[in-house]
Amino acid sequence: DIRLSDAIARVKPSATIAVTTKANEMKRQGLDVIGLGAGEPDFDTPENIKEAAIRAMREGKTKYTPSDGIPELKEAIVAKFARENGLTYKPSQVNVSPGGKAVLFNAFMATLNAGDEVVIPAPYWVSYPEMVLLCGATPVAVPCGADTAYKLSPEKLEAAITPKTKWLILNSPSNPTGAAYTGAELKALADVLLRHPQVWILTDDMYEHLVYDGFEYKTIAQVEPALYDRTLTMNGVSKAYAMTGWRIGYAAGPEKLIGAMRKVMDQSTSNPCSISQWASVEALNGPQDFLPVFRAAYAKRRNLMVDGLNQAAGIVCPKPEGAFYVYPSCAGLIGKKTAGGAVIDSDKTFAAELLEQEKVAIVFGEAFGLPETFRISYATSDAALTEALVRIQRFCASLS
Ligand code: PLP
Repeated sequence: DIRLSDAIARVKPSATIAVTTKANEMKRQGLDVIGLGAGEPDFDTPENIKEAAIRAMREGKTKYTPSDGIPELKEAIVAKFARENGLTYKPSQVNVSPGGKAVLFNAFMATLNAGDEVVIPAPYWVSYPEMVLLCGATPVAVPCGADTAYKLSPEKLEAAITPKTKWLILNSPSNPTGAAYTGAELKALADVLLRHPQVWILTDDMYEHLVYDGFEYKTIAQVEPALYDRTLTMNGVSKAYAMTGWRIGYAAGPEKLIGAMRKVMDQSTSNPCSISQWASVEALNGPQDFLPVFRAAYAKRRNLMVDGLNQAAGIVCPKPEGAFYVYPSCAGLIGKKTAGGAVIDSDKTFAAELLEQEKVAIVFGEAFGLPETFRISYATSDAALTEALVRIQRFCASLS
């Protein structure tokens, strides 16, 4: 039998992918499963973006590109950061990787050593701590519960930083909670960071365009220019442009860091798909008129879910600012019994019983580092969401 690496032994499988796989399996068996596990838009990629990809293929743009992106896409990214975030970058400060996930991995691979610590507010996106572990460093989770609207406070940040802290990860709006930081909240965190020059900031802005009720989006390097020289501002086309399968993510930051990330790519993946890169040029430079349409649909679904979940006995669901997730507490149900006699002893059991009995797939909160909670992705049809709420309410009412 093959002996696996110590690095891979440190890493857990992805709970969100596991839930999606299980739900799909049950569907294939003919069961009427509603999957609210996957973090993927149900919208199709806009037509003009697909056309740009077809054009690229016809024009023979089907060969290797520079490892970290074509100049045209880097220019589009530079323009995006200037237009939307008031941030000035040169193309030499831009990295394009095969997905936002790969941007993060390349950044960690390029910077982390054994003993380095990475501060990760919890609940967190499942891959952050695992990537840090894969790179041999130490994730430091900082629990941020519903009492602080699932956000990191300056006090908690100050307490988490040590001389070994290499990165702070910020993710706003957040996967899994949908919570987003205001400019003032970011400024308060920045004030702490200014006192600790060894800490770099990796801000994952994947859900920037998915904010509701007029929320004014800000990213930390924009709010505190003094942090520009130690911030990697990361973003991508997957979520906002409904392009998860195309695998394009990007980031901008100091040239030395970007150069090191390019070296990782030069010696591992080489370039992201050339066709996807041309499609992304169109996504960023082309018309943005579908964004408000997507946003309006998501906002409506968010309201539907928050209202419906708060009507389920024992569930408390805060209203998030963005992304396409809600993140309720199921603490009120722990200790209760199902009609069949099973004890709901954890969020994990709650999720398993809900799937078993009502065929609704959600992701339990422990996977995101905060127990007694769960995540629902509402990036699916209104009809499916409405039916899911009926089932969740029925399940909660059946517990005693
Ligand atoms: N960052 C966050 C917070 C995400 O939710 C995701 C996707 O689930 C990613 C990064 C990765 O995006 P991509 O599909 O572009 O790799």
